[in-house]
Amino acid sequence: MNILVINAGSSSLKYQLYDMANEKVLAKGLVERIGMDSSILTHMPTGGSEIREVREILDHTAAVKHMLDMLTHPEHGVLSGSDEIDAIGHRVVHGGETFQESVLVTPEVKQKIRELFDLAPLHNPAHMAGILAVEAILPNVPQVVVFDTAFHQTMPPTSYMYAIPTVLYRRHKIRRYGFHGTSHAYVSRTAAEFLGRPVEELKMVTCHLGNGASCTAVLHGKSYDTSMGMTPLEGLMMGTRSGDLDPAVVPYAMGKEDLTLNEVNSMLNKHSGLLAISGFSSDMREITEAMQNGHEGAHLAFDMYVYRVRKYIGAYAAAMNGLDVVVFTAGIGENSAILRQRVCEGLTFLGIRLDAARNEAKSREIRRISADDSRVEVLVVPTNEELMIARDTFRIVRERTASKANG
Ligand code: AMP
Repeated sequence: MNILVINAGSSSLKYQLYDMANEKVLAKGLVERIGMDSSILTHMPTGGSEIREVREILDHTAAVKHMLDMLTHPEHGVLSGSDEIDAIGHRVVHGGETFQESVLVTPEVKQKIRELFDLAPLHNPAHMAGILAVEAILPNVPQVVVFDTAFHQTMPPTSYMYAIPTVLYRRHKIRRYGFHGTSHAYVSRTAAEFLGRPVEELKMVTCHLGNGASCTAVLHGKSYDTSMGMTPLEGLMMGTRSGDLDPAVVPYAMGKEDLTLNEVNSMLNKHSGLLAISGFSSDMREITEAMQNGHEGAHLAFDMYVYRVRKYIGAYAAAMNGLDVVVFTAGIGENSAILRQRVCEGLTFLGIRLDAARNEAKSREIRRISADDSRVEVLVVPTNEELMIARDTFRIVRERTASKANG
């Protein structure tokens, strides 16, 4: 079965085509600048060379058409026709309280996703555009939606409620949802498999450290708490996002600097985090290099970042009353040995001990980086949200086919 995974943004569309017989990627690509003067389509067939084209792509429907043209192209394509696509899985950022797991797209599901537009105004409308574009061009291909928030729907109210008037929760669903759920679910299950232990027996903290960053307390395989909240702004310090902060800072800064709501939102989401503290970059590679060359802002940015990750690991160990495994994943978590070392060197009281050589070894594979006598296992697990979406889509479509055959 061939499954196409789509991540539609407001002006972009990323895709990956999987052959589920062996979970191999057949091709992947990206359409950028949708709706702008010159859109760019980059297509990479596995084992072939990259193709880059500049075209006019006015909307998501045109983007889907061009993507299909590429996938079935006589020279660069990997399929002989679009009828070889058996199902499509979409990433959807916000599933609110409505979606606790991935589901098949139906008219009711689309309506419910629309009702969640307010909670994710930048993301969910773009995902819907992707779903509708596919529907228009491939009306008979089943589509599945996989939500970034779904894994965290197991959080108890003690984790997800804000201590503010409950009318705000009842009327407007203001609560913590958490994000990166597909990644936290994937790495926690993969880590348990790697260790050969049932995930139901483990207390884990998974640290997804990329441009966006979040830590999750995964208790017995389920999300118990996570650092992002109603939006992906809460929690850890990130590339350009502030993470946790006293909410009183917002009205105070607005008053002092005469900022509008939009401006303060933009300040906290786009002009804070590593970028604000270093004064020059949101990119951890550049920060690390500058820190090693003695740049003071980069030093503070790096130290603050490390300190906050360490605090969350400690807090979640306390929340779960124990800790068996720490997982590092995403761009920074997978690649920065110095960051992992600095986070872990302050956690020896929990029984965490890294093995320096294992931590520094360059590898793209899942691996253990803790010392043999470490009480807590520390792993690096490369995340793969697309594969997780493909697996969910495959499972749901197969179940539907089986129930149709039985019914
Ligand atoms: P992601 O959002 O998962 O693609 O992660 C992007 C982040 O990973 C950026 O801050 C990159 O600077 C960071 N990153 C990638 N490779 C490295 C590396 N070798 N060392 C430090 N940070 C890295």
